[in-house]
Amino acid sequence: MWLCDTTLTWLLIQHEMFRIAQASAFDRRWRALNRLTTYYANALDFAIPPIPLFGHTYFSTGSFSYYKTLGLRLEKEYYVLSVDKSDPPFFWPILLHELSHCWLGRRGDVDSISDKHLDEISEIGDVTRINRATIEKRIEEALCDAIATYMIGPSYPYSYLNRLWARFPAGIVPEYPSHRFRIECMATVLDEMKLYEQARNIRYIGNAKFSEPWQNEEIHWAIDDIVSVTSELPKLVVDEVDIEANRVAYNLEFSATRDIPTLFLACWMFLGNLESSEVPSAITRTSEIILREIE
Ligand SMILES: [Zn+2]
Repeated sequence: MWLCDTTLTWLLIQHEMFRIAQASAFDRRWRALNRLTTYYANALDFAIPPIPLFGHTYFSTGSFSYYKTLGLRLEKEYYVLSVDKSDPPFFWPILLHELSHCWLGRRGDVDSISDKHLDEISEIGDVTRINRATIEKRIEEALCDAIATYMIGPSYPYSYLNRLWARFPAGIVPEYPSHRFRIECMATVLDEMKLYEQARNIRYIGNAKFSEPWQNEEIHWAIDDIVSVTSELPKLVVDEVDIEANRVAYNLEFSATRDIPTLFLACWMFLGNLESSEVPSAITRTSEIILREIE
């Protein structure tokens, strides 16, 4: 019965995926989204590039999720990534978080970090009652934040703070680490990238929102191991990307850049410099610039 239910659920998910894929084919932004996905999939050495879609929210699925939920290793890998179709492109750095779930699906980082701290886990588990499965899920979420930050730079934390923050209020979903901890992971990665001012800014926003220290998170002991996984990634963000993005933002509408991390950060900086009344029209203009440069 369980297997029958599970199979039915998967068939329904596949049907929904097919429906979203059909609709995405008519979205004029798909070409740019596909370029962005392929660029990062190549950099991360995916055997087959993920298929990007415009869905109702951000998510990732594919062969790795069969292993996670059913214990099955499919012979051929495949990946599907969805971005929220209602979001303008400057939120697309969130795609990197979803791509990281796929990348981690081929590796053993979550298990090895959990195993390494097994003693702490049993000790903490007694106090907090979160089980190993929840701990592993939280480690994976924080890893995806760290990887996304390393791959595309500060535009990921800014997308997170402005988009995902409101969507997942702290404490409601037990599978996610606290926002404050997630921010500390991203800021630590930015420190490692020598983007100290950006790291300070991200922490400042986190501190202003929450008084609770990041060390209160049950998996706080995993932070060094989470951040150290980024040392295995290709370096795609240029040194001092924030200085370069600031220069590009100053003249964005006339001379942008095709360097993806710089382009996204420049758009965030451009919007950050505007009066709130100017933002709606600027969103349309920056969206066009991103599409033009990535395509
Ligand atoms: Zn996630």
